[in-house]
Parts: sequence; structure tokens; C-alpha cells
Amino acid sequence: MNRAPTKRQDDWRWQLAHRICDPTALGMAPHRACALSESGGAVFPMAVTPYYASLLQPGDPDDPLRIMCLPDPKETRRCEHLRFDPIDELRHSPIPGLVRRYPDRAVLLVSTSCPVNCRHCTRRSMGKGHLTALTPEGFQSALEYLTERPEIRDVILSGGDPLTLEDRALESMLRAVRKIPSVDIVRVGTRAPVTLPMRVTTELANMLARHGPLYVNTQFNHPRELTGQAADAVARLVDRGIVVSNQAVLLRGVNDRPETMLELCRGLLRARVRPYYLFLCDLWEGLEHLRTRVDEGLAIMEHLRGRISGMGIPQLVADLPGGIGKVPISPNHIVARYPDRTVLRALDGREVTYPEPEPARRKDRAISGSTP
Ligand code: SF4
Repeated sequence: MNRAPTKRQDDWRWQLAHRICDPTALGMAPHRACALSESGGAVFPMAVTPYYASLLQPGDPDDPLRIMCLPDPKETRRCEHLRFDPIDELRHSPIPGLVRRYPDRAVLLVSTSCPVNCRHCTRRSMGKGHLTALTPEGFQSALEYLTERPEIRDVILSGGDPLTLEDRALESMLRAVRKIPSVDIVRVGTRAPVTLPMRVTTELANMLARHGPLYVNTQFNHPRELTGQAADAVARLVDRGIVVSNQAVLLRGVNDRPETMLELCRGLLRARVRPYYLFLCDLWEGLEHLRTRVDEGLAIMEHLRGRISGMGIPQLVADLPGGIGKVPISPNHIVARYPDRTVLRALDGREVTYPEPEPARRKDRAISGSTP
């Protein structure tokens, strides 16, 4: 496809109203679509903006962007280790639509819909008897909850995608959250720069900048998502002092090759987006075919180190099942530790001794009486 956008296609409301929901319209074979419809609604419905659909490579079933937006009958597969709501958000929702898994942070779910229903979504059951968005009354209760708990300093507007809301609705939420003195920062979690870049209008960017310090966390997963339009959307935010970071998800067939991730991280830096996290895919039911081995994640991290500056290297993390929280996973460069020195493995495999500072070395001498 890759057609030049028309004026109408530049309108984000038009894009949302014309999302493609029929897999055969994006080239899925009718018998596969039939297998999906026979799943009895077990599969997360498809929704793709015409903009994102224009980035797909026609006729290529292995197109990484297609894998991220087209449903797959494999999603009906059940595995013992996969769960419904693996990160236990429902149990951590003191108010329907507010999730609190860490002492200092709270997530406000302000919308149930998204421009594109990503196949790997961790909120894939939103609005289906599971997590739900805050109602207007719920939003007031959430404000009271935040006000009464000054230890919550970081509030994240999420969903669904908050940028499916109109500017006015978003601004009234931001204004209300900003009035709480204990809230230091507000983050907005959105894939709109990736899936609906025309949503990031100058007016929206100006409005968001009025409520800073504000951070936008987005999710570019593949270099082809970094189009000129996407880069322009990011630039409108960054030019106004909004920090934009990327939380990619490591997905089989999408970005599991080290070279792909390197290209993505380089592109993100060029677009002034800080690669922040690289998530292992959550243990959601139906996502086994998209998951990668931990070793593959570590190999990617090893590949990035030394090929791009530290600024461009995301932290590989797993969001542990059971709502325990995120944990960083790092290649191990420590070979051995002693009181006076640590032996480290360099990127080329050499082992190098790194001495501790003098006081520690003196203390060690006093204890052992000798230094090896
Ligand atoms: S934009 Fe985010 S919340 Fe929406 S479907 Fe994609 S991953 Fe899920």
C-alpha cells in the first residue's frame, strides 16, 4: 500500500471512525478468518487504523507489522503457564479504573479503546468484565484516593489509549490531577505516535505542555513504525519540553533479531525518543506464539552494548506474574567478586580486574594481612 495520505486521512477522528475490523480486509485468508470467528469471541477483536494498515506489506504473512495487528488463530491456544491478567491488575484496583501496584505510583485507566488493538496487548480484556475505565464518578473517587495518599507522586494516564479522548476531556483530567500537591509528575501512556500520529496535533501538544512536567511513554516495536509522520508527531511533543520515552515489547517475528532492535534504537534516538524499557511479552493467554526466550532478550542486550551509546539502550525487563512488579534482566558481566577487587568480563570476552578504592583495600589487608 504505502499511499500518500489524503487530507481526510490526516484527520485523526476520521482514522478512528474508519478503523478496519475485518481481518480479510487486510489479506487474511477466509479459512483463517473463519477459524477466528469460530473461537466464540475468545480472540481479542481486530481494529487497525487506515494509517497503520497503509504501513503493512501486502501479501507478506510474516510482515512484522502485520503480526502486531492481525489476529492469529494461534491466539486460541491455551498453555498451562499462561494466565488471564498475569500481572494481576484487577486485584490491584482499589477503585475500578485505578491500578496501584507500586507504593509511589498509580495508573488511571481513562479510556477503553485504542487506534490499533495490538495483538500483544496486556489490557486485551478491558471493558469485558475485567478492567474498566474510570467513570466520571470513579474519576472523582480516584482524585480523593490520590489526595489522601501523598506517597503517590507519579500518576500515569493510560487505558486503552488516553489519546482517543478529545483534548478538552484530557485537559480537564490533567488539570484535576495537577491540583493535587503531592503529585510530582504525570505520565501519559499512548501508542498514538505509532498508530495514529495525526492525533498529536499542535493544539494537543500545546495543551499537554501546559500541564508539565509531563512524560509521554509510547511503544515503537519495529523500525518501520518510525515513519516521517510518526517522527513529526514526536517532534511536536519534544519541541514543547515533553519527554518522550519508548517501552518496546519483545515479540517473536517482530523485533527478536538483534539487528532489528539496533535499528529501532538508533531510529528512536534520531527522533529524540529515549529507549526506556524492552519488555518480555506478558504471560497472557493466547500469546505463546509471540513470546521469546529470556536468552534471546539477553543476546539482544549484548548486541546493543558497544554498538550504540548507553542512551540508546533500553532496560530489558519482565513484568513478573502475580502482580509482583517489574524486574530488570541484565547480561552478567561480573565473573568474580573479592573484597578488594571485582573481575569483569569485557564486551570482547576478556576478563579484567577492577580494583576497589583504597579504603576497602586497606580494610581487607587489615583483615587478611596480605593482598594477593
Ligand atoms: S495501544 Fe496499548 S493499550 Fe491499546 S491495544 Fe495497543 S498495547 Fe493495548
